[in-house]
Amino acid sequence: MTDVYATIRERMLREQLLARGIDDEGTLRAMREVPRHLFVDDAMWGRAYGDYPLPIASGQTISQPFIVALMTQALRLTGTERVLEIGTGSGYQAAVLSRICDKVFTVERIHTLLASARKIFDKLRYYNIVAKLDDGTLGWPENGPYDAIVVTAGGPVIPAPLIDQLADGGRLIMPVGDQDSQILQLLTRTGEVTETANLECVRFVDLIGEHAWRR
Ligand code: SAH
Repeated sequence: MTDVYATIRERMLREQLLARGIDDEGTLRAMREVPRHLFVDDAMWGRAYGDYPLPIASGQTISQPFIVALMTQALRLTGTERVLEIGTGSGYQAAVLSRICDKVFTVERIHTLLASARKIFDKLRYYNIVAKLDDGTLGWPENGPYDAIVVTAGGPVIPAPLIDQLADGGRLIMPVGDQDSQILQLLTRTGEVTETANLECVRFVDLIGEHAWRR
């Protein structure tokens, strides 16, 4: 059986990712492989590969493919890394990461989202993803340190516990700003020194927790 979605994904790669300078082999391979449509409601399958974010349950969103690729590429994964994601949402970003690292730990604060993401991970046999319900601004200290951390919700600052759980040489990416707009910040840790670069203006849903917005 030919997979029509595989053809649509090729087109997404060409028009949205390659055309905008995404050139990391692993990122492109993962975005080619992961069936993004399974992470949205089946009524939206026809729009699953469009050049925009889409709504998921509980008033949250799955990011635009280009933003997922940009964040993934910035982590410079080689296949051996332990990666922490804050904000599982649909599970799509975690799924993409899982194809090109050793293990993904992902934290979500809304139970229904976590439950449906877990179901898709099982269905796709993405067994190197573990997910838990918690306030992700506290990180997941038991499994750290992490070679890479990705926060997929926007907050006023990078939560301190996440920097503490980042390995020496590790990379962290997060949208930082106010509740209307943020800048994607890439933080690199070398020993106790951190360096931050600004990538792209973005708009994410709120990061809600002890080290972010309170509501
Ligand atoms: N990575 C997701 C994006 C989901 S939107 C995807 O690929 O679909 C951001 C998610 O972050 C939402 O599901 C929201 O509930 C979650 N979130 C917000 N604050 C959080 C926190 N403190 N801890 C864990 N998850 C949080």
